[in-house]
Amino acid sequence: VGVTRLALKVDVDTHAGLRDGVPVLLDLFRRHGLSAAFFVSFGPDHSGRALLRVFRRPGFLTKMLRTKALSTYGWRTILSGTILRGHLIGPSFPQRLERILHEGHELGLHGYDHVLWHDNLLTLPKARIQDEFMRGFEAFRRAVGRSPSASAAPGWQCNTESLAVQDELSLLYHSDTRGEEPYLPQSGGRVFNTLEIPTTLPTWDEIWEARAPSDVPQHLISQLKLDRLNVLTLHAEIEGRVQQKPFEQLLKRCRELDVRFVRLEDEAKKILSDKAALPILGVRSETRPGRAGVVSCAAPVLPKSLPVWYHTEKA
Ligand SMILES: [Zn+2]
Repeated sequence: VGVTRLALKVDVDTHAGLRDGVPVLLDLFRRHGLSAAFFVSFGPDHSGRALLRVFRRPGFLTKMLRTKALSTYGWRTILSGTILRGHLIGPSFPQRLERILHEGHELGLHGYDHVLWHDNLLTLPKARIQDEFMRGFEAFRRAVGRSPSASAAPGWQCNTESLAVQDELSLLYHSDTRGEEPYLPQSGGRVFNTLEIPTTLPTWDEIWEARAPSDVPQHLISQLKLDRLNVLTLHAEIEGRVQQKPFEQLLKRCRELDVRFVRLEDEAKKILSDKAALPILGVRSETRPGRAGVVSCAAPVLPKSLPVWYHTEKA
């Protein structure tokens, strides 16, 4: 009989998410006796800037209302980094970070300035990318007393430079992309050494673009794959706040179906004990249903023997 393994990866993008969403999720995980991985941004909360960008798009108001943006994020977050100074996220709540670790969860880095990374990674020079990691590592070390052993890219944005920088940081793994299975990334003509564990499932906010919140749990369950590592990315601001109730339904349903909750860190160690068996995959930017813009996704590596025109056509 096969087993369905599910790893929960919680991205904490905002000050309010760490303050209010994380304790709710921690209570929920404790009630259900499961461990997860929390990835926290350690720099200033500039979410207001991201929302301003969305504001310029047509259909903004309908989207704001539909996704309950105000109750999800609150006014402080919506104005953060615009007319209000952005608070530092991770360093503001040492007791929350302590509680995450104390209750047996994993804690990793979700970038320094989430909004800067999400919006500009592709145009940042390598030195600037390095600097973002340095700041994130430094703030993490000051708060936690050690370096992070895993990193998750804000907004699933990665490229050759960010993979190269991470390769120098001796991480156990990173989780920067969307894909089907763990792999070693190949980009810019080189194969990187750090294990990539992609998010395999669509996120809550992507699914509710097309469905009622009460249908999200069943939709996610239908996407779980047997005998594979399923990875679901949550957002402290969403599942830990406005979507708390339907999210608990998902956890209950998983329990009934004997889904085994696993920690990414433990899975990474297992995978790395047989590193030679890992596939090598390329990384390319793609759109995802229900999400604005593009995200980095695992992609098959094109064999060199294909004619030159094929590569140019696809590039
Ligand atoms: Zn994020």
